[in-house]
Amino acid sequence: MKYFQLLIEILTVYKNSRKTGRVECHNNDEFEYSMRLIKRFDLKYISYVKKSKDNKKIIYIYFSKNEKIVQKLYYYHHDPTASLVHDFRDLNEIIGKLYKYPTCCINIFINNQKEVIQDNDNAILLKTLHNSKSKIFNICMNRFSKYTPIFHLPHSFDCKKSIKIGKNNLRPQEIHGL
Ligand SMILES: [Zn+2]
Repeated sequence: MKYFQLLIEILTVYKNSRKTGRVECHNNDEFEYSMRLIKRFDLKYISYVKKSKDNKKIIYIYFSKNEKIVQKLYYYHHDPTASLVHDFRDLNEIIGKLYKYPTCCINIFINNQKEVIQDNDNAILLKTLHNSKSKIFNICMNRFSKYTPIFHLPHSFDCKKSIKIGKNNLRPQEIHGL
């Protein structure tokens, strides 16, 4: 179960650490848990159900205090007309900017179209490792932890902008004593 991850992803939007977010729910319990929080925090949201490669149901929920941002996210992620108007690079650049991901990290994403389309995060993380110079990484970058305060794939494990985002995203949890 990844309830704590869902909690911090939703709490960071509620506490204004970031403007918008997306959670990925792999079962009804995770979906109901997320929806309870989103409704309690009075966030605007749109959900979308997708079948994964192994035919399992994944429910995405996009949320923000701003309804227009939620609608834009939904449009660029799922509306077939968006992918007719924009190519892969444009589309992912727009989406990355809506989430306020650092440009350096958006670039690793759009420069690895094949891996992104295959949904192969591990292949991208290998490139992230290749781009990393340090041997000791900031705790925000620990992808083996039960939760991570960075919700995008960093271009490098040393990425200063990502570490700053991670520290900022951790703040609401500290306030709440989690
Ligand atoms: Zn970066």
